[in-house]
Amino acid sequence: MTERIPVAVLGAGTMGNGIAHVFAQYGHAVTMVDVSQAQLEGALRTIGGNLDRQVRKGTLPEAAREATLGRLRTSTDPAAAAGAGLVVEAVPEDLALKLQLLRAVDVTGAGGILASNTSSISITALARHVAAPTRFIGMHFMNPVPVMKLVEVIRGLQTSPETTAEVLALARARDKTPVEVNVFPGCVANRVLMPMINEAVYCLMEGVGTAEAIDQVMKLGMNHPMGPLALADLIGLDTCAAIMEVLHRDLGDDKYRPCPLLRKYVAAGWLGRKAGRGFYGYGES
Ligand code: NAD
Repeated sequence: MTERIPVAVLGAGTMGNGIAHVFAQYGHAVTMVDVSQAQLEGALRTIGGNLDRQVRKGTLPEAAREATLGRLRTSTDPAAAAGAGLVVEAVPEDLALKLQLLRAVDVTGAGGILASNTSSISITALARHVAAPTRFIGMHFMNPVPVMKLVEVIRGLQTSPETTAEVLALARARDKTPVEVNVFPGCVANRVLMPMINEAVYCLMEGVGTAEAIDQVMKLGMNHPMGPLALADLIGLDTCAAIMEVLHRDLGDDKYRPCPLLRKYVAAGWLGRKAGRGFYGYGES
């Protein structure tokens, strides 16, 4: 499936704007849907800024910048997603919210593919609630989406081999490197990454080191491009906490208990970069 099917992206936040950017850059008409008009406007600004950076780096011709922006539409009405051949859901990591949205834009009955960017909610459990569960799949993009090559392609129990093959081909044609995994709490990326981030927050809470010291150790010692606390700020601390809650509940092991300091920051609204403050300050709020 490499033709330019229309794409809809639900949620224009950290991930949604990046997913919309990539599909629009590769020729798809893309509709971004969000409850918040301000988020939609912010997403267009972010995409514009990221395209500027690509042009400056010489990885995108100037004309392609304008063409990409010209393929993007926004709406606060989920009905605007009707007619899309692929819908990618990227709303917050909340089961009830995701179900409500997926039901509202269920393109599977008409032969479309419905994909969730969920970090930790079961694709198999979500698929139960759509018209054609064989057409439901996980497309777990990495942040920042225009830069990161990996897409974890998560097969639910009901996902058909044809749907999986279409999504793998689509991701490859959009210059991504898909890796197939089976549904399980956190799959591979977050099963491994989130406990490391959570442990770094425990180190901070217990005074083992400052945020800077913890991140420096992991960058210089383990060759990580970013320290775990800076990465948590990039991901969003609410998203990190929600993923730990799912791992804790679904794997039933206390080693996945979210660190109290992580919960405390989320309660304070210190959600990381998107809130202007997390483990580090970002010059806002
Ligand atoms: P975010 O909070 O940055 O953005 C979510 C967006 O959804 C917001 O713009 C919000 O206004 C919008 N929204 C809320 N309710 C809505 C509704 N009813 N209809 C339409 N839009 C609605 O979140 P995010 O970090 O982009 O995460 C989105 C999903 O992607 C989550 O499932 C998360 O687990 C997953 N994910 C996040 C990352 C990351 O690094 N942040 C990485 C991979 C996967």
